[in-house]
Amino acid sequence: SFDILIVGAGHGGAQAAIALRQRGFEGTIALLGDEPELPYERPPLSKDYLAGDKPFERILIRPATFWSERAISLLPSRTVVSVDPVAHRVTTADGATIGYGTLIWATGGPPRRLTCAGHDLRGVHGVRNRADVDRMIAELPAVQRVIVIGGGYIGLEAAAVLTKLGKHVTVLEAAPRVLARVAGEALSHFYETEHRAHGVDLRTGVTVECIEETDGAATGVRLADGTVLAGSMVIVGIGIIPAVAPLLEAGAAGGNGVTVDALCRTSLPDIFAIGDCAAHPNPYADGATIRLESVQNANDQATTVARVLTGDPQPYDAVPWFWSNQYDLKLQTVGLSTGFDMAVLRGDVATRRFSVVYLKAGKVIALDCVNMTRDYVQGRALVMARAVIDPALLADADVPLKEMLA
Ligand code: FAD
Repeated sequence: SFDILIVGAGHGGAQAAIALRQRGFEGTIALLGDEPELPYERPPLSKDYLAGDKPFERILIRPATFWSERAISLLPSRTVVSVDPVAHRVTTADGATIGYGTLIWATGGPPRRLTCAGHDLRGVHGVRNRADVDRMIAELPAVQRVIVIGGGYIGLEAAAVLTKLGKHVTVLEAAPRVLARVAGEALSHFYETEHRAHGVDLRTGVTVECIEETDGAATGVRLADGTVLAGSMVIVGIGIIPAVAPLLEAGAAGGNGVTVDALCRTSLPDIFAIGDCAAHPNPYADGATIRLESVQNANDQATTVARVLTGDPQPYDAVPWFWSNQYDLKLQTVGLSTGFDMAVLRGDVATRRFSVVYLKAGKVIALDCVNMTRDYVQGRALVMARAVIDPALLADADVPLKEMLA
């Protein structure tokens, strides 16, 4: 039994353990996860790690000694299958039970899978953990053509890396534009143009019918209009399904994720949830209950829980931020653009250095900055202040954003 049992040893889980010790928590802590590795960073999986530019040791969240020095018990290769909130214990897939005083649920979620024929063929990959990417890397030498299904950040990042590795890459997106869920049209169209300029065959508004096969291995993708595209590797980047079944079965409120309050408490006693799997009220979404899939959110919610458990509770109100690297383009976003009613372009898209400022009812709610770290850094204060600024002024890239805040 542990005073604090953390389930899920990814970004949120690891940070919860780190923050608890930083804040002086002296009880027992266990960090349990279903992967065999020490906690590691996920963003490089579709960037430097896939590219072969960073070895695994360099994406560890902390070195092995860190955890033992702080008396954080690592319990790898274990999957929690059920939670008993009354007895305060969990059961793992091998039948063992582990008691807890407080449970922190930080399980993220596996990639959503296609439902069509061929979704489980050899050569079809989701991108969530190291094992997924190692399987891809092992297959790559024999692959010439790759088909990426889903034009979100992970799919586009993988497309950029694989293009640089000399593969012929096709990206298939069902929506009329890439990044439709997370960005405005200007940004979507910019990235579409960039990928095409790098030789990617990028198709929007297309429906995947099935994966074609020979002897159990993928050979391509058939579209609803009958087109067949060849590719022996198919990468599926169409979102995640939050891994919350054991909590919901135990009676926790939720659905798409487990519902938490501003202190990351689930509806079950002594059970918190953080990161990708936590549907939380977010001040930057007008208090709406949302899930965010970002390192920022996982880390900051981990800190929220650590504060509660060390007697200094503070409602979660961290500014959302995110990044994506594709080719030589460094995108940095701050705030949440969902529901914007105006998008203002700062700078010239053709220079490949620009920002898009999103407004809602006249207030700045978010920025997407491409190779424009200065705007990203200075724009944060505008988002925090929900600043009301004349769009014509915002559009003047010669005026620094920090000079616009009265
Ligand atoms: P995770 O880090 O996924 O950790 C959850 C852990 O729990 C996993 O190890 C999982 O296997 C384990 N687990 C699940 N169920 C159980 C169970 N029942 N029992 C035991 N263990 C379990 N975010 C950014 O901000 N910037 C980026 O550039 C970026 N790029 C990304 C690229 C890729 C390829 C991916 C996959 C994600 C990227 N993200 C990025 C998102 C970011 O990695 C996630 O938001 C973050 O990892 C969420 O942390 P988490 O703790 O909620 O979940």
